[in-house]
Amino acid sequence: MLQHKYHSTVFIKKNVGGFSYNCTNKNPNMKKIIALLMMTMMANELMANTIKYTLSFPEAQAHYVEVEMEIPSSKEVVELKMPVWAPGSYLVREFSRHVEGFEAKQGDKNLTFNKSNKNTWLIQNPNKSNIRVKYKVYAFELTVRTSFIDESHAYLNGTSIFMYVPELMNKQHEVLVKPNASWGKISCSLGKMKNNPYHLVAENYDILSDSPFEIGNQDIIEFTAQNVKHYVAMVGPGNYDAEKIKKDFTKIVDEATSIFGTHPCKEYTFIVHNVPSGGGGLEHLNSTTVQVNRMAYSNENTYQSFLGLIAHEYFHLWNVKRLRPAALGPFNYDRENYTNMLWVSEGFTAFYDNWIVRRAGFSTTEKYLDIIANEYSNQVNLPGDKVQSVADASFDTWIKYYRRNENSNNSQVSYYDKGSIVASLLNLMIIEHSKAKQNLDDLMKYLYNEYYEKKNRGFSDEEFKKAAEKFTGRDLSEFYNKHIFGTESIDYNKYLSIVGLKTTNLNATKNEVFFGATSTTSNGKVLISAVLKNSPAYIAGINVNDEIIAIDNYRVDDLTKMLNYKKPGDKISITLSRDGMLKTIDLTLTKNESVKYKLEKISGINQDQELALKKWLE
Ligand SMILES: [Zn+2]
Repeated sequence: MLQHKYHSTVFIKKNVGGFSYNCTNKNPNMKKIIALLMMTMMANELMANTIKYTLSFPEAQAHYVEVEMEIPSSKEVVELKMPVWAPGSYLVREFSRHVEGFEAKQGDKNLTFNKSNKNTWLIQNPNKSNIRVKYKVYAFELTVRTSFIDESHAYLNGTSIFMYVPELMNKQHEVLVKPNASWGKISCSLGKMKNNPYHLVAENYDILSDSPFEIGNQDIIEFTAQNVKHYVAMVGPGNYDAEKIKKDFTKIVDEATSIFGTHPCKEYTFIVHNVPSGGGGLEHLNSTTVQVNRMAYSNENTYQSFLGLIAHEYFHLWNVKRLRPAALGPFNYDRENYTNMLWVSEGFTAFYDNWIVRRAGFSTTEKYLDIIANEYSNQVNLPGDKVQSVADASFDTWIKYYRRNENSNNSQVSYYDKGSIVASLLNLMIIEHSKAKQNLDDLMKYLYNEYYEKKNRGFSDEEFKKAAEKFTGRDLSEFYNKHIFGTESIDYNKYLSIVGLKTTNLNATKNEVFFGATSTTSNGKVLISAVLKNSPAYIAGINVNDEIIAIDNYRVDDLTKMLNYKKPGDKISITLSRDGMLKTIDLTLTKNESVKYKLEKISGINQDQELALKKWLE
């Protein structure tokens, strides 16, 4: 569980079952006998409380892993469960749908079992003795939150592979991996039994399920930073330079660690899937898995965004894997885990990934200011910002953010984007209140120390607010009502003035035409893909999936190009096809009112503002 700090080398608990040994006998032989007896008792008790899994891959080409479980039990009915979701990725994914061939045995005897719901198996155990369970999992989804197996490798995410016994979750869990003959390496952050890299051990189920496995022939790059041994498992070919990876990752480790002033692990593993397209990552307790375009390493922009992704996942090592809202650990694997606070867990992490990339010297100050300005602009231009609060976005992520559709921009905010903006505002408030002595780092450090290191638990909404009030020196109730639980527009210039900056809207002098719908072209057809709320297209009733055929009777091949010939106020007649029937819609184009901010210094910047700006960009 998360409240245990992880020690990868501690396998045998010192005080098993509450039995403590205090030898007062002077006879050395008797001492030895008692010691031996003690060790045997400890080992027996440990074994009796250990869940053991063996993984093999006789049908890797068909994407199967075979799982065998040895379960210590003295219960008449043994309950086994498969998680429905993977922590960090807030969607019920129903991992039990990939389970096949479930069987339970005691010695050679088959035990009867039945399912009580979609992810729970009940095994009859009349002898109340240890049992063995076998099942297969089909794994053919190469994302960071699922599992994937083929003849070349196996990537296993614990939540989609390992079943658990609810009352034994806090016991030790061991995994023996039997790799296929052509696979020569394993990468996983779990501790090893007897120095066998394929025999791994976790203190409990939470640690097991939060430690993904990569087994195959990955290229492993090693480096040490902040006294922590780091492994980078490069899976699949990519145009990376191992020496550059070591150097650049070290800078990220250094910058991230400097924010909290302490590093929580002894070893850390990056599993990097080099893929033809796509990207993203998922944080784990002492590791992360990321996906990156395999050619991203040689281009300055794509490499910088890869480093941003690495910084993001690495920052999660503190923020969310340890410092976390109360709902996010220990987890309930059986259903959704609700929190209002993903704007802190994800939004603040999004803020810090850009922050770390800049501080590590991968980006310039100008670029950083442009990123902040773009974040503000995008939020102002997003209709969903007036509909959904960032707290609601967090709570409803299970049914909204992870299930986006064509209308999401009209009805939702991203707790990543809005959360990052809130982080930037709190940062400015802290700088102002401390007279440029402190910034957001100090709040994060305080929270980490208070709720992870001292109290060893998640924080409540109110506790986070109180801590933020302590560092900003103000009552944040109004701010919360307006911008966390409410949807009121943010007065960016009010906050930016703390550091002597203001927004300038680069679109203000433009007279661009506004239609308000985006399109894609498929097989020569121009199809509407999204319609922006309150735009001319929205008001006139243009629908997603409409095929635009003509404007003013001229055939449309490229909608944007066609509209560029028009000006605000022009009336147009659109011929479209909907449900196989032609239709004409008339509408009036307006002026594009969307903003594009640039951050600029205000005139007559004073000494306090100069100091604050220096602190902001140090
Ligand atoms: Zn994240």
